[in-house]
Amino acid sequence: RDGSKFYVDIMLNQMEIDGELFGIAIVRDYTLLKKAEDKIRLELEFEKRQALTDHLTGIMNRRAFTTQLTDEIAQLEQHGTPFAVSFIDLDDFKDINDEYGHLVGDEVLTEVAASLQSNLRQTDILGRYGGEEFIILAKHADKNIIMQLAKRCQRSIQQLSIRTDQNKTINITASFGVTVVCHEQSMRQAIKQADDAMYQAKRLGRNLIVLSDETEGVVAIPAG
Ligand code: GH3
Ligand code: MG
Ligand code: MG
Repeated sequence: RDGSKFYVDIMLNQMEIDGELFGIAIVRDYTLLKKAEDKIRLELEFEKRQALTDHLTGIMNRRAFTTQLTDEIAQLEQHGTPFAVSFIDLDDFKDINDEYGHLVGDEVLTEVAASLQSNLRQTDILGRYGGEEFIILAKHADKNIIMQLAKRCQRSIQQLSIRTDQNKTINITASFGVTVVCHEQSMRQAIKQADDAMYQAKRLGRNLIVLSDETEGVVAIPAG
């Protein structure tokens, strides 16, 4: 009546009275129901996002990441598009917790996630795989692309300098395991290959990138 617009719910029906057909329209103000519906929809979207996000770092959690990886494997099977995976484990992270406490450890994890994210290409996907483990899915990536990406990430983690309340500076490094997936294989196999290469980097002294390569075998690249 005052000219404002509002949502309505309309029910249409027909009825025969004394042999004559009448149309009936029941129009109800739908404003409150619409508001309730919108609220539920927003809450569902929020819950869905929460279920796929790592709460500490704000990046994808393992569940969300593995869904993306499964999709990428399906793309490889259908179109033969190769991709690469990099598994990243922070070096001696337990020492940071032991020395500075878990809250500082949490801050380091958040900064590492942000630094990794800032080095990705637009189509790359970053996830937190576990405690101090991150994982990158690089779409359409060959050996050179993923190695360049891993080197950028390695350098940027190494360059992080995190100040504690006691004015101490924390420096951190990471070990990288990298693999290119170009044949059909399961998600578990792809992750295992990158994870095995990462362990190789640990065994070789940490702060290294190890590429698990079909033709060249294992190639270790030091920091720098
Ligand atoms: P390495 O170089 O062999 O990987 O040694 P590391 O000390 O990094 O490995 P280890 O597996 O012994 O320790 C990982 C530590 O990460 C232990 C655990 O308390 C810590 N951690 C896992 N998740 C979190 C987290 O969410 N916050 C904090 N602050 N620490 C975490
Ligand atoms: Mg670990
Ligand atoms: Mg570690």
